[in-house]
Amino acid sequence: MSVARIAVAGSVLPALDYWVPSNLDVRAGHVVRLPLGTRRAVGVVVECDVPPTLSRDKLRTIDAVADDLVVPGELLDVVRFVADYYQEPLGAVIGHALPPSAAGPSRAGTRAPLRHALRLNAAGVASLAPLVARAPARRALFDALQRDGGMPPAEAAALRGVARRALAEWRERGWVDALPMPATDPALTAVLPTLNAEQAAALAAISGTAGRYAPWLLQGITGSGKTAVYLAAAAARMAAGGQVLMLVPEINLTPQLEDDVRAALPDVPLVTLHSGLAAGERRARWQAAASGEARLVLGTRLAVFAPLPRLALVVVDEEHDPSYKQQDGVRYHARDVAVWRARARGVPVVLGSATPSLETFHHAEAGRYGWLRLTARARPGAQPPRISLVPARVPDAHEGLVPALWHALRTTVAAGGQALVFVNRRGFAPALKCGACQWEAHCTRCTARLTLHRAPRMLCCHHCGATVPVPAQCPECGNVDLIPRGHGTQRLEAALEGAFGAGRVVRVDRDSMRARRAFADLRARVAARDVDVLVGTQMLAKGHDFPRLTLVGVLGADNALYSADFRATERLGALLAQVAGRAGRAAERGDVVVQTDFPEHPVYRSLASGDYDAFARGLLAERAAAALPPYAHLALLSAEAHARADVEAFLDEAHRAACATREALGPGGDTVDIGLPVSALMARRAGFERGQIVISARDRAPLQRLLRAWRATLDTAAARRVRWALDVDPAAF
Ligand code: ADP
Ligand code: ZN
Ligand code: ZN
Repeated sequence: MSVARIAVAGSVLPALDYWVPSNLDVRAGHVVRLPLGTRRAVGVVVECDVPPTLSRDKLRTIDAVADDLVVPGELLDVVRFVADYYQEPLGAVIGHALPPSAAGPSRAGTRAPLRHALRLNAAGVASLAPLVARAPARRALFDALQRDGGMPPAEAAALRGVARRALAEWRERGWVDALPMPATDPALTAVLPTLNAEQAAALAAISGTAGRYAPWLLQGITGSGKTAVYLAAAAARMAAGGQVLMLVPEINLTPQLEDDVRAALPDVPLVTLHSGLAAGERRARWQAAASGEARLVLGTRLAVFAPLPRLALVVVDEEHDPSYKQQDGVRYHARDVAVWRARARGVPVVLGSATPSLETFHHAEAGRYGWLRLTARARPGAQPPRISLVPARVPDAHEGLVPALWHALRTTVAAGGQALVFVNRRGFAPALKCGACQWEAHCTRCTARLTLHRAPRMLCCHHCGATVPVPAQCPECGNVDLIPRGHGTQRLEAALEGAFGAGRVVRVDRDSMRARRAFADLRARVAARDVDVLVGTQMLAKGHDFPRLTLVGVLGADNALYSADFRATERLGALLAQVAGRAGRAAERGDVVVQTDFPEHPVYRSLASGDYDAFARGLLAERAAAALPPYAHLALLSAEAHARADVEAFLDEAHRAACATREALGPGGDTVDIGLPVSALMARRAGFERGQIVISARDRAPLQRLLRAWRATLDTAAARRVRWALDVDPAAF
């Protein structure tokens, strides 16, 4: 019997030691079932033959080894990095590297056969050569199994009779190796448009770094054909035998992307990975990636944990997108993990965006990332849209839309075009106020206003989900005249239906798109010209290609400028560029009308001029002055409890511990700044009082050292009454 160290999935404990019965062959990466407390759990072996940390009689014994799941070493490295960097126990992270159904036995029917090409190894050739000379069927099999790429799985499956039995016997004897995949695939075709000069230059640069770590920022305006560059680069790496990982923000919202990729790379075995898949399906795809059978893995942030034995290129599309950051559990940033993984594997990584994150932009400016640009729309004749900034607060605005926008909408629809009205607020109105006194509808469980919804009519909290009936009169003064303030998607939908007819307007937001087929139906209706006006939230901003859409109207964007979130302006810039990019994707030039009271604000000036760089540099200067990312690295300790006193006690204790830890840190410790405990921006949510501590540092290394030591102290007595989380590189604080 030997002892193995095992990361137990979902456990907050460090890796644990277990006995391995001598009849089990257990190596690092093997998935095992084991007893944990009174239950059974699943774990991954991270180390074998270790000296036990517990006395021998305290160790328990693993039950079983899963025969069809092995976490490869390089993926274990990713898991170790994520655990270490994000200060999470290995067990919490290991679950991400396992397909979801690993906990149970794989069900018949969903179990994917491991489809390897087969090839004779040296021992097989030596042993068999004298035996097959006078047996033609065996001789043919012998030859086929020595071809360069081995025998493809389909061919092996089609064998019958003698050959089939011989193959089974030779495999039994250990003479046949399973190849991860054919080494090269020169027949691979890519159906792509002829690249223009900028695209070709970008492709050449990326391909020139094959086989080594090289981070690239591909900065291209919307419609500039970044996807064609990704796919051409991917095709080259796959033709040379590699696998490609392509991350996208939200695959569910952009189903046409998968179709486009399949159409462009028709003979590439492709799997998509996202959280919407059934567990068995995700497991099968995980295995297809692990076996090397899947050449292209296209997925959302969780796909950054896909096993990819022959990874040759990583692509992160829309690298600035906030959805790459996981907001609960292990709070990793998939883009950052992707870059780390590319470095560890020594392969190029392409970060693509029209509006790069300030972090990535900063790396490119400093020369750490190569910088590639696409400055024009790729489709012949397609031009960037005309942008008009029009004052929002005008007396003759009707239902939130100013006359200029009404006029543009009417003209567009009359000419047979389609229009999109963007407002980033779902519901009818973001506030309900009393016309006589100061009363406003608030959530009792959150520090937040309630949003008025119609159909069904109710007040709804967008933070905790609580719903309450709409009061008939003001609870403060009894006035019956309660006034909805501001405009959400439902209110605009009603106003636009009044103007263009009920059947010609479609609302697109989280409420209207709940059904599984909702997006497909929407696209079909838009394609059939069944719709004149789309009104919706940022759900509409992402990657949809509606060729007849020639007008985009933007409302309420100024709200982001009042936000306390330090990334709000950066996000607004990205969102505006994305929304504006929906206009005029085909031959006809598009128009974008933005309602704003701050037309001189850099975010609007850059939209109008198309000069994202100037905007980014301006924001970077502000970040530098305020010592915010990317000029500082942040960590956020957040805590919540029903009683504020519990939150305060915990954070006070944590603050003292952080200061003591910093003392002990020695050199570099003084460069770490420990903020005082404060209330969170949203002081109460879903009935929980919330507080936080922000830690910042110019350099990552001392921050990481402090966090490591500090985290160990956070499981204090006070911690038992609060829920707390440590977020490294938080999206906001
Ligand atoms: P981005 O991702 O940069 O916003 P896309 O990759 O979606 O842009 O490309 C926009 C459109 O231009 C797509 O319809 C694509 O097929 C087309 N396209 C891309 N490259 C070329 C090219 N070289 N010639 C013609 N059309 C192109
Ligand atoms: Zn009142
Ligand atoms: Zn609430």
